[in-house]
Order: sequence, then structure tokens, then C-alpha cells
Amino acid sequence: MTRQDAQGFDLADPLARFGDAFDLPKGVIYLDGNSLGPAPLKVHERLEKVSRHEWGEGLVRSWNSARWIEAPGRVGDKIAQLIGAKAGEVVVADSTSVNLFKLAAGALSLRPGRKTLLSETGSFPTNLYVLQGLTHLLGDRAQLKALAPAEVVAAIDEDTAVVVLTHVHFKSAQRWDMAAITAAAHAKGALVIWDLCHTAGAVAVDLNDIGADLAVGCGYKYLNGGPGAPAFLFVAERHQALIQSPLWGWMGHATPFAFEDNYRGASGIRGQITGTPPILGLAALEAGVDLQLEADPARVEAKGLALADLFIAEIESRGADPALKLASPREAGQRGLHVSFSHPEAYAVVQAMIARGIIGDFRAPDIARFGFSPLFLSYAAVWDAAHAMADILAARAWDRPEFHARAAVT
Ligand SMILES: *Cc1c(COP(=O)(O)O)cnc(C)c1O
Repeated sequence: MTRQDAQGFDLADPLARFGDAFDLPKGVIYLDGNSLGPAPLKVHERLEKVSRHEWGEGLVRSWNSARWIEAPGRVGDKIAQLIGAKAGEVVVADSTSVNLFKLAAGALSLRPGRKTLLSETGSFPTNLYVLQGLTHLLGDRAQLKALAPAEVVAAIDEDTAVVVLTHVHFKSAQRWDMAAITAAAHAKGALVIWDLCHTAGAVAVDLNDIGADLAVGCGYKYLNGGPGAPAFLFVAERHQALIQSPLWGWMGHATPFAFEDNYRGASGIRGQITGTPPILGLAALEAGVDLQLEADPARVEAKGLALADLFIAEIESRGADPALKLASPREAGQRGLHVSFSHPEAYAVVQAMIARGIIGDFRAPDIARFGFSPLFLSYAAVWDAAHAMADILAARAWDRPEFHARAAVT
């Protein structure tokens, strides 16, 4: 493909107009929206309004007058539209890690008599850590089985309370077949928690259509909610009456402002909130989600996959370095919206690219990872990034001392 071909795709791209909605520095090609989404311009306005006007002038009155108290459910309802859930099935609270803890314990409460939490090895580690912590706490009332992905489905049995899987793998971008796995778990009476961190805002899913039970996901990746944005969780309506949160906080109480001594959980999704909602974080996230709602999720996914395909094809057609190997599925339908390559010097390669304004990231031990967020990336920019990477590999431009020095966050 020539650069002109890529520009032709941009002219025909219905999502191209979103490029101007983000605050991205000139000269940067940002291939890391899957790790930290860039700031939508509207976020700046929204934060300014919330801090100066609602907080600065409204003070504590804004819990009512600016409807702060409704924000977790209001933003949750908006995210619900992006993932095929109904209003009242999603709430914004805490971090993904904490939400997973709550829902894993909640799943055990929905399947009394079953002890096994089943999950996959090699996925994003916080998920296993959280499940290890939960089973440690519960002693012989629960056990964690963490198996290689290929072994998970066959291991679902009559003792499985819940299967915990990440829909799109954080390194390889390999996708699980959500519908098939959910059906396989249900056939054995088990529930599934889907981690949608690399899915929401990227890959079109319909939780209700596949009969999903429970899900968690991130606000700061493809939803562009800002660093440390609060996360979301989904509980299917049919599970809401019985699921128990293990974290009893006042905001999950049926009547928080009655200040009763004894806990009575709120019915509905609000029972999954623990403490006071982070209003500044919610305000930024809401601006990111509002922008995302303007784009058709199927189109978003199709463009992201096309950008990734273009990147793979241009890199491989240059054949710049035989040590570079695709570490993601070649078949687009098996992938999320990022692509990984393995290379023995992946860290230095990524640093050399960053020095040229092309920002991807490194994942140990040898992965260079690039995300293709469809709202702000153009085909021409992705073409440029691929050719810059091929140049760097061909010239071994990564082989300089400053590109080998490791920072704390990779
Ligand atoms: C990014 C990510 C998380 C992040 O969890 P935090 O609690 O927000 O740090 C969790 N799971 C997966 C699969 C992720 O990709």
C-alpha cells in the first residue's frame, strides 16, 4: 500500500471527524490508547466546570444541585449502551481490581455450595492476584484453579462457581469467544465474569445478547477517562436481587443517609458501590464516554482492526528484521485492537520509536505493543508509524545506550 492509498482511506472514513476531538501533541502518533487513552478536548472544559463552578462555588450543595450523587449510575448507564447492557446494569466505582474482587465474591454468593473460581494463566496479573487474595481470605470455602487458556473450558464442572476471563488478552490481543464460553459455563451451572478492559470502547460486544452474568472494565483505556479513571462493573438484572457485595460500605446501603448502625444492602446495581464516588474522575470519564457514544461501536471495531491490519502488512512487507515476529493472531476476527510483536530488543525498539514521536509500549519480556484506537488515529498516521518502525529496525537505530535504559513504568 502507498501512503496515498492510506490517505484515500482517511477521506472515506466516517470516524475521521473524531480526530479533532482529542488533545494530542503535534508530531506524536499515539499507539498507546489501549494503556492510557488521550484527553478528549471536552474533558478540560468539563473538569474546569466541575472544579471551579460545582466544587468551588457549589461546595457540598453540589451533591444535589449538580447531581453528583447520581454520577456513578448515570455514567454507568452510558457505558451500558456501549457494551449491550441495560440501564441499571452498570455502575462506575473503584478500580477494575477492586470491582473484580467484589464480583468474584458476589459470584460465590450466587452459587452456594460451589467452591471453584476458574481462571487463565498468562493474562493481566491483577486478575489472578485478586482471586488469590480472595481465596486466601476464604480459606477452605473457596479455591482458585488457574489453567492455561486452552484447558479452561474443559475444566468447568459442577464445583465451578465462576469462570473469570479477560475478553481481549492484554499482550497478544487474542479474543475469547464470549458467547461460546458463556454458554459452556451456563451448561454446567457456572457463571462467567468477563474482564472488558481492552474491549469497552474498542470491540463491539452485546452482553445481554449472549446472556452475560457479570463483567468489569477500565475507564482509562479506550474510554479515554484519564489516568486512574474509576472503573465500571456490570451485574445482569437477573442476578441483582441475590448477589452480595463483600465490601459493605455506606454508599451501598439501602438508605445511606439514614446512618443506621447495621448494614442493609441496596437493591439493584447501587449495592455494588462501596464509598463516596470520585466526582472529578467521574466527570472526566463521562466526557470520554459521551464522545464514544457518538460513534457506532461496530464501525469503531472495524476501523481499529483495519488500522492494525495495515500496520502488520506494512511492517511485514518491508521485511526489515527477521527477528521481529507477530505475537498476535493474524486473523483480525481473533484480535482486539492492539497488535504485539516479539523482538529480542523490543524495549529498545519501542524507546527508539518514542524518540521519534511514535508512542507504543513494551511488555516484558520481549513484546512491543501498539494500540489502534479508532477515534483519533488516521490510516496515514499508522502508515507513517509502520514505515518509521521498519526504518528503525533496518538501520538498527534502536541500538543506542539511551534506548536500553529502563524506566519504572514500561
Ligand atoms: C488494564 C487492566 C486492568 C487494570 O486494573 P486496575 O485495577 O485499573 O489497575 C485489569 N485487568 C486487565 C485485563 C487490564 O488490561
